[in-house]
Amino acid sequence: MENKENSLAYNKRNFYEALPELVDAACEYAVGYTDYLNKCKTEREAVRESIAMAEAEGYVPYTFGMDMKPGDKFYYNNRGKSLFLFRIGSEPINEGIRISAAHIDSPRLDLKQVPVFEDNGFAYFKTHYYGGIRKYQWVATPLALHGVVVKTDGTVVDVVIGEDENDPVLYISDLLPHLAAEQSRKPLGEAVPAEKLNMIIGTRPVDGDIKNNVLAILNEKYGITESDFLSAELSGVPAGLARDAGLDRSLIAGYGHDDRCCAYPAVTALLDCKDERHTLMCILADKEETGSDGVSGMQCVLTADLIHSISDALGGNYAQVRANSKCLSADVSAAFDPSFSDVFEKKNAALINCGTVLSKYTGARGKSGTSDASAEYLAWLRRVMEQDNVVWQTAELGKTDVGGGGTVAKFIANMNIDTVDLGIPVLSMHAPIEIIAKSDLYEAYRAFLAFCKY
Ligand code: MN
Ligand code: MN
Repeated sequence: MENKENSLAYNKRNFYEALPELVDAACEYAVGYTDYLNKCKTEREAVRESIAMAEAEGYVPYTFGMDMKPGDKFYYNNRGKSLFLFRIGSEPINEGIRISAAHIDSPRLDLKQVPVFEDNGFAYFKTHYYGGIRKYQWVATPLALHGVVVKTDGTVVDVVIGEDENDPVLYISDLLPHLAAEQSRKPLGEAVPAEKLNMIIGTRPVDGDIKNNVLAILNEKYGITESDFLSAELSGVPAGLARDAGLDRSLIAGYGHDDRCCAYPAVTALLDCKDERHTLMCILADKEETGSDGVSGMQCVLTADLIHSISDALGGNYAQVRANSKCLSADVSAAFDPSFSDVFEKKNAALINCGTVLSKYTGARGKSGTSDASAEYLAWLRRVMEQDNVVWQTAELGKTDVGGGGTVAKFIANMNIDTVDLGIPVLSMHAPIEIIAKSDLYEAYRAFLAFCKY
């Protein structure tokens, strides 16, 4: 944002200095978000909760081929794992769609298909980690189990263990320091091999059998047997609630900020937008953390099918609709961390409390794998942000030679839709508990709102 004192220079703005009148609103918004985070630890839970929020605003299920007219509000639930919300605007559909696309999957420890085993007095679940985790962070911490077991008759059994304060939690052991001399000498990435990420589920033998006793407990509570794990999606996630962090309560500590801290602002902005001109769409995608492949990932043709159907139903031209659409790929960026400042290039890093983050490009090395939004699109977005006085900044993930990453942006851009990444700075991204700032969350919400109406 342009510095008002000296219009020739550019300086980032700090939310607390730029918009003190909005501090209370930001804190209030964070309460609703924290509740969302606590209800949505998996993509399935995020879909369910987001549908409930949309239905409360009059959104109805969409099936292909339905008629639609301006003002209609729909959601498309893709297998319970990804979600599309859309609202038909008053302007011709050939003017394009304003799309925001976040993802609702987060790094975690999935159970393997044959997970249960017993070894020397312990029963365990074997896990296969999902997404980019640092394995050493997931040991010696309480874990909850979330997901579904689908039986051969089609019955879907919802499982949540470890969130109620009376529930047991699961746990992966680590070495005591007294015996960890050799482990401590290993590179961090090798200190905890994936095959040691086994969650303890029991130690009590009944009729001499620990594993069978655990299976009996699961059978009694959920009506499942060991073979039902063959058609299950169960994930170990950090147990417990998100909460305020910092003595001044300016931050939120919780699991899965990446990317629910973008999903929630994108959804609430769509639901709250009063301007009825543009057709709006919010996509909550699955599988971003593993490359956006598969039926619930952003690379699935479902997005194209939906835009095509909306276009047809409103008498538009599919290619023209895409050409005129605009997208914010809503994903987090790495917050500049003073404790690890050497991996960041500070002028182009996302600073905490300096607002929502626009990343013109992502990728690694020479921008490999990026869609690199055009200068024209960035200029348009600058105008959008300026009109609502949104506190925003641009950022790259870190120093050019240090690493990199990608988002769903390129998959939407590949459909001939102008797309840029917009999100929130996150500290300790992909750790079991991540940190964001309430101010940045609120400015992301205001940015999505501005995008929906201008
Ligand atoms: Mn992400
Ligand atoms: Mn991620």
